[in-house]
Amino acid sequence: MGLEYVSTRNGKERLCASKAILKGIADDGGLFVPTELPHFDRELSDFTEMDYKETAFHVMKLFLTDFSEEELRNCIESAYDAKFDTPLIAPLKKASKAYFLELFHGKTIAFKDMALSILPHLMKTAAKKNNVKDEIVILTATSGDTGKAALAGFDSVPGTKIIVFYPKGGVSPIQEKQMVTQSGENTKVIGIRGNFDEAQTGVKNIFNDKSFNERLLSAGKRFSSANSINIGRLVPQVTYYVYAYSSLVKDGVIECGQEINITVPTGNFGNILAAYYAKQLGLPVKKLICASNENKVLFDFFKTGIYDRNREFHLTSSPSMDILISSNLERLIYMIAGNDPVKLSGLMKELSEKGSYEITPEMKEGLLCFYGNYANENETAETIRKVYESDSYVIDPHTAVAAAVYDKYVSETGDTTATVIASTASPFKFTRNVMKALSEDDPKKTDIELTEDLSKISKVKIPPAIEEIKSAPVRHTDVIEIKEMEAAVAGFLGL
Ligand SMILES: *Cc1c(COP(=O)(O)O)cnc(C)c1O
Repeated sequence: MGLEYVSTRNGKERLCASKAILKGIADDGGLFVPTELPHFDRELSDFTEMDYKETAFHVMKLFLTDFSEEELRNCIESAYDAKFDTPLIAPLKKASKAYFLELFHGKTIAFKDMALSILPHLMKTAAKKNNVKDEIVILTATSGDTGKAALAGFDSVPGTKIIVFYPKGGVSPIQEKQMVTQSGENTKVIGIRGNFDEAQTGVKNIFNDKSFNERLLSAGKRFSSANSINIGRLVPQVTYYVYAYSSLVKDGVIECGQEINITVPTGNFGNILAAYYAKQLGLPVKKLICASNENKVLFDFFKTGIYDRNREFHLTSSPSMDILISSNLERLIYMIAGNDPVKLSGLMKELSEKGSYEITPEMKEGLLCFYGNYANENETAETIRKVYESDSYVIDPHTAVAAAVYDKYVSETGDTTATVIASTASPFKFTRNVMKALSEDDPKKTDIELTEDLSKISKVKIPPAIEEIKSAPVRHTDVIEIKEMEAAVAGFLGL
């Protein structure tokens, strides 16, 4: 019997992995979780012999048990290829007494590529396995990083179409240029006159519109979701923590079996949850250090056991972490509640009605392997400067939040365990803020022009993702009102 998935809010419906990937989210609004977390089925030392793809296979097969070896290997081969600018896929760089796990060597130079380059292949395979003949239509609202990574992942994948809505004027110039130059006949990018929340709500409304879904089905199409609650995004992320561990063993930094810490700059709690899953597999991890920016709802939660989203929202230099509801935390809460969907549903109901909930002291004990802290805007900029001055290494603001929190952890605890810091974006994606932190900003230059200066300072070549958009033709120019979103979807799909 393979691994089964259930909704966090209802223990009854059980699905195999491929069905959970196709569905994305459970009918009751819960997230799919494995009924039991798997464990390594081979020795930890075996992984030191493997490259990234082989590691991915031996990790992902533990979660996606209804995929055949051939199916899974095909997905992995199609994802982690020359789209990445290094065959290592996720290299480690030592700087500032920690090991930065560079997760930004894919198409869009942010860590979302790690999962979104394989998700389309997992979905296509899942559709085939389950005899789903419908065309899969991905609908996404983005505040910047997810949209482009999803577009790049689904670009020209047969049997799929993708439509991305972004707030016109609400994303960085580089992020916008990346999206509007997207190739692929199956892709569509549309600016909306409104903010991200309105775009997000608009997308949810289309997803939930019964008659629109019927029209879609009768045209042989169905919606699916590429956002981070899909288990098909979480599972591929477990790989790179195992890979980072074996890289440290290979480099002689640790002995096989020795513990490490992992620090993750956190927004929706997906990336750090993948690290927690890696620990459950049997990876020797001592502390999971959860780093927040000024939207420090998770820091407060780890400290008090109270999750409270009723607070001011801050726009920061690490926008992908500007989040007050960390969706994937639901999966952790479910586990520390003893896999109890009733208890979990009660808490989630409080969250949606009052905006807050409190966990019990017993549940709090399940959080002992986590340490939470946060960095404000000054600390983030200072950390970019400090790491550059000590190691000539330039990090992006999201990664800097993690590095700053790691420093706080070390000064509070004196713990010198070897530590991996998830480096979630290339500094070239957030050039303006990085250059400001280094006091090298030139307000007369465009963000793209500034990348030349950053390249000189950091002695790192401008990534292909930036070079490409300099000359790429703009293919997507539509800008519409919120109320026109559904009609735009119908238009692109020819309904
Ligand atoms: C999405 C994102 C994050 C946050 O990751 P979660 O999985 O949502 O916690 C951090 N940094 C960057 C650059 C991102 O794009």
